[in-house]
Amino acid sequence: MTGDLQTAEVILCCGRGLQNKSNFHLALQVADCIQAQITGTRAAVDLGWIPANREIGLSGARVAPQLYIGCGVSGTNFHIIGMKQAKKIIAINTDPLAPIFQIADIGIEADVGKVLLALMNTFSEKNPLHHPSVDELLTFFVDYHATNFEKIRGSLSGR
Ligand SMILES: Cc1cc2nc3c(=O)[nH]c(=O)nc-3n(C[C@H](O)[C@H](O)[C@H](O)COP(=O)(O)OP(=O)(O)OC[C@H]3O[C@@H](n4cnc5c(N)ncnc54)[C@H](O)[C@@H]3O)c2cc1C
Repeated sequence: MTGDLQTAEVILCCGRGLQNKSNFHLALQVADCIQAQITGTRAAVDLGWIPANREIGLSGARVAPQLYIGCGVSGTNFHIIGMKQAKKIIAINTDPLAPIFQIADIGIEADVGKVLLALMNTFSEKNPLHHPSVDELLTFFVDYHATNFEKIRGSLSGR
């Protein structure tokens, strides 16, 4: 894992909610496919997935990318202080009460493994050499949200 976090357009942040190494490896593949810098919470560092110099938060790096994608991140204050300057925040979490949803532009209440797989399939199938822009990624999340949640719970966007 290399690459400057301060100049990164897209940051994918791994949290404990990824649950296992297989999902973590999927997150690495997705990051490669969408040209995101990979980072993590303190929990992901403690699990040995992410090196300490890529932890985001009070005791880690503070970043301001165009797009932050939190994967199984709860969003404690210790973490949020490091990423709240992101222009757009996507949160994927199974817990509707996860604090990160309070600051997310798009909150996806779902299993992170499923969402990452859909993301991977969408962009690797299109053209493996084409890396999506921030706008294309936002469109994916808006569409994913609308397709999977709108009919059940009404619009959740804008949280
Ligand atoms: C002094 C101090 C400084 C700290 N500094 C930092 C810091 O700089 N950065 C930092 O990150 N932390 C820091 N921490 C730790 C911080 O308090 C949290 O413990 C940590 O951020 C939690 O990481 P997490 O969100 O990955 O894990 P958790 O809080 O355990 O959250 C995991 C989330 O994953 C969700 N989830 C579970 N299964 C799934 C699934 N299948 N799909 C989707 N979601 C799922 C859960 O609902 C949960 O919300 C600090 C703590 C202290 C005391």
